[in-house]
Amino acid sequence: MLHFYHGVMGSSKTAQLLMQRYNYQQLGLKVALLKPAVDTRISLSTVYSRVGLRAEAEVVLHPGDSVREQLSWLAVQHAHNDYEYVFVDEAQFLSEEQVQELADLADDREIFCYGLKTDFMGQFFPGSAALLRLAEDIQEVTGGLCWCGKKATMNTRVDAEGNVIKHGEQVLIDNQQQIKYIGLCYKHWREGKAHA
Ligand SMILES: [Zn+2]
Repeated sequence: MLHFYHGVMGSSKTAQLLMQRYNYQQLGLKVALLKPAVDTRISLSTVYSRVGLRAEAEVVLHPGDSVREQLSWLAVQHAHNDYEYVFVDEAQFLSEEQVQELADLADDREIFCYGLKTDFMGQFFPGSAALLRLAEDIQEVTGGLCWCGKKATMNTRVDAEGNVIKHGEQVLIDNQQQIKYIGLCYKHWREGKAHA
């Protein structure tokens, strides 16, 4: 079954992913951790959560990579047949084709995709749109809060001074920390108000 667990920035999606993966690993099950190449926080293969949990992805998926081929390659490296449990962090950055592959691969395994539903302009990422179309289990990772204390539902890009940025490229990751992403409630996202 293909699962899509979506949540805003700051909802501890990655921490939940890593804890769920750990539970399967403890049972001795064959678990693979994948991530698309776009997110460059820390390093390309590190899966990093804000609460401090981290792990190394076994496969970094580049645009155009076949998920099926990458998983087969990984299974060969580890001298076993296949992966029964597959985790994907930052799944919004998957291509539509990769999500289609995951949906097809999910006939006989559990595939857990964690990611954002929408970008800072409130639009779907291609990967999220495909996951919302094809995943058989869709759940929200709640817990992210707006500065006002309400549930955060929207993602916001802010500059170093905390000013909301409303326009620009969908994917912009700045390792110099000139921009960052936060979750806001719908009202404060619409108003562009990132702090009191
Ligand atoms: Zn708010």
